[in-house]
Amino acid sequence: MAISKEQQLSAHIRARPHLREIFQFYQKIEEIWHASPPDDFLPAIDLRDQNVRERRKTGRALIDRQSFDRLSFANSEVQLRKIITVMRQGGGEKEVLAQRLSSFLRVSGRSESWLIKTVLTRDDAYLDRISLEMEVPGPLLMHLIKMTLRISFERLHETLRTVLNDLDWDFPLCPICGGSPFLGQSLSEGKRRYFCFFCSFSWVSNPPEGCPACGLIDPDRVNLLYKHPEENQAILACEGCQAYIKIVDQRSETEVLNPDFQEILGIHLDMAAGEMGFHPLGQSPQRSELIIRPGNTDPRP
Ligand SMILES: [Zn+2]
Ligand SMILES: [Zn+2]
Repeated sequence: MAISKEQQLSAHIRARPHLREIFQFYQKIEEIWHASPPDDFLPAIDLRDQNVRERRKTGRALIDRQSFDRLSFANSEVQLRKIITVMRQGGGEKEVLAQRLSSFLRVSGRSESWLIKTVLTRDDAYLDRISLEMEVPGPLLMHLIKMTLRISFERLHETLRTVLNDLDWDFPLCPICGGSPFLGQSLSEGKRRYFCFFCSFSWVSNPPEGCPACGLIDPDRVNLLYKHPEENQAILACEGCQAYIKIVDQRSETEVLNPDFQEILGIHLDMAAGEMGFHPLGQSPQRSELIIRPGNTDPRP
């Protein structure tokens, strides 16, 4: 019998009491998701055959950064407000950061919806500026927006299911939102399932032999590091381009991983990779903090 998400969550908390607080925060966000309607993200996508074909061929995601401008975030706005409230109730540093965020919006007379839209449509320099103004770290802002938009993206994935049927996509970015995968699951027959960091979409791909970011094939420089005996998680890191991605060795295709749980379980791996000077796949090497965003600005290889 399949284990429910709740059972998995309690098992994780029991086994890893040091991660209890993060898992519980996630649990509360999950409750918000269940109690909220999603926004419709379909207007962000041009579904005409030729456009879809062209993008598949050239490795461009269906969503461009500018298309977020066409969307309404009315429901997401309510969700973000609820998530900020949960943060505030968490006390400590979380509470301080949540206060800063809400008072920035209040004082500047701006809405949560405005924040979501501008951060998504503008570039990294803008994110840096606004995070400085708010005194809220950019990666945290992106994380909150990502968690806020999750159910709307999930609904979009459902809607696009037929379009994505027999998707043949070996590019190292999410075919829907253009975000980078943060996790690969090894499947049988040498296939790999990638999970998008931003929208949580997952797709099966024929991974290249070497580095998924730069294509370097050199077993001495592209390596699986830090294999954890119980979690099955490891870092696939490339000394050529200094990019890394976490890989979970879980060969059963029927067992689809929960990317949120995996993200929490892999926190120590991200820290280890950062300490060794690697940056997450798809992120500019100048950044030491994790900022992966959706929407392509121009085609990538
Ligand atoms: Zn995505
Ligand atoms: Zn590389």
